[in-house]
Amino acid sequence: MTTILGIESSCDETAAALVTGDRTILAQRIASQDEAHRPYGGVVPEIAARAHAERLAPLIEATLADAGMTLDQVDAIAATAGPGLIGGVMVGLVTAKALAMATGKPLIAINHLEGHALSPRLADGALEYPYLLLLVSGGHCQILLVEGVGKFRRLATTIDDALGEAFDKSAKLLGLGYPGGPAMERLALAGDAKKVPLPRPLKGSDEPHFSFAGLKSAVMRAKQSGQYSDADIAASFQQAAIDCLIDRARRALAAAGPVNALVVAGGVAANKAIRGALEALAAEHALDFVAPPLALCTDNAAMIAWAGVERFALGQSDPLDVAARPRWPLDPEADAVRGAGVKA
Ligand code: AMP
Ligand code: MG
Repeated sequence: MTTILGIESSCDETAAALVTGDRTILAQRIASQDEAHRPYGGVVPEIAARAHAERLAPLIEATLADAGMTLDQVDAIAATAGPGLIGGVMVGLVTAKALAMATGKPLIAINHLEGHALSPRLADGALEYPYLLLLVSGGHCQILLVEGVGKFRRLATTIDDALGEAFDKSAKLLGLGYPGGPAMERLALAGDAKKVPLPRPLKGSDEPHFSFAGLKSAVMRAKQSGQYSDADIAASFQQAAIDCLIDRARRALAAAGPVNALVVAGGVAANKAIRGALEALAAEHALDFVAPPLALCTDNAAMIAWAGVERFALGQSDPLDVAARPRWPLDPEADAVRGAGVKA
């Protein structure tokens, strides 16, 4: 049985995991840096890189100890090589290179987005390619046709903010602190989604993409007007975001051709209202709906190890001089989108 050590350090989560070819997570540890970044209201790259450098080696040791394993029993070492904050990515990738060199095990450089994209297959052994994936996180907002390992067609991306970013920025405007997504969802439960008129940017547009900057600005104006309760703003924001997401997903489903499932991944997939709306959309199209468990939705190393399992099974590995890539699109053929805020 293949066992892969996965390492993740692309943003503010330092993580290590051991995952087997039969989808067993033998052990996984995550050290969150939320506390270190909270005073700044967002992730500070320099603080993140230093925290990864301090924590990663002991975390890997502890993960191996949890599983009662030594590095010699691992078949390969998979690490996020991008996209992400370059300082953190380098800490993880260089650590993986050192371990690979010391043990003679293969190194597998993983695209963090591929980790998210394949994580539903770790959670659900019945999920077959192709599937339509909504990748919604703090840094990314894409709809991808996943045809296989390394085979992605990007059908939509954001022309400005990612969906998680819109949640975080709107939460900040309401004084909810960082990270804002979970706090927005909680507050929305107490509000009325029909109270605040907010825009649905690009809804119904021929352009396949997302846009959330205008929604965030409208949240700011609603707050400044003093006319609405924070709960009503949160509920109305969340509903506007859901309306945009469902509209864009419906368009992508029509463009994608036959798929086996509608799948959501990334931190925003933790949102129950969003999950519910996507589940209804899948039912409308007679498709299975797959959402990995919450622990696999946010950044984690099990998904990196799993992407390693899939690549290892195909005989793939990388040379020790493989580069860390701050930008690394899953679909290099995808057209550039308008606007300056092009996300990988
Ligand atoms: P990731 O970038 O995958 O680590 O996910 C983090 C992002 O997901 C942040 O932008 C969070 O605010 C967002 N997020 C996490 N939980 C929720 C939630 N329940 N509702 C909306 N956004 C969320
Ligand atoms: Mg992520």
